[in-house]
Amino acid sequence: MHTLHSMDIRVSVAWIPGHRGICYNERADVAAKEALRLDTRIVNGSIALASCKRLVAKHIRKQWQTRWEGSATGRAIYARIPTFRRSIQFPHVRSCAVSYIRLLLDDTALNAHQFRMGLSSTRVCECGTDIEDVDHYLLRCPTYDSIRCDLLQTVQDIVTYCIHSSNQGLTASLLLSPWNCEDASKYDCSEMLAATYQFIHKSTHHL
Ligand SMILES: [Zn+2]
Repeated sequence: MHTLHSMDIRVSVAWIPGHRGICYNERADVAAKEALRLDTRIVNGSIALASCKRLVAKHIRKQWQTRWEGSATGRAIYARIPTFRRSIQFPHVRSCAVSYIRLLLDDTALNAHQFRMGLSSTRVCECGTDIEDVDHYLLRCPTYDSIRCDLLQTVQDIVTYCIHSSNQGLTASLLLSPWNCEDASKYDCSEMLAATYQFIHKSTHHL
């Protein structure tokens, strides 16, 4: 301002409303956002460190997802978790964490899996009602009916009141990988997973 004044240039300062609603400004905003989305290269310019980290993370996630979809291994987990949206918070009790991972791998001490490995003469559960697989253990086995009430009630409440979906069925995939539910918040996922961990722990079935 002093420099301009010394050059005998009159400067008037006035408040003007924001640029919102000004046609060409709006178009410039849209173009800038689109350029950033399409091209992560910043030429002859600078970028904030936080933005840089975000772009790198986004790029790595995209590459990782492509490899995950095309990989020939880990298909049991892929069936449960086709897209990794959040990092997994494992339970503190080690045996519970191991059981959880084995359920994800579809390779446990349940009779269906032991029979597949030639380690059991039957796939049927000791309760005698059905094949003892992941779905049976988590959702139907009458042996765990009493502890299953808490699990199903917690998850059903979150699905109904937080995610606002009554169409979301309670499946083994939802219990083991709740972040597949796109509407679930980080808190919802943590709560649902904690309920699943509680069920595994209380069942005392070392999988
Ligand atoms: Zn059973």
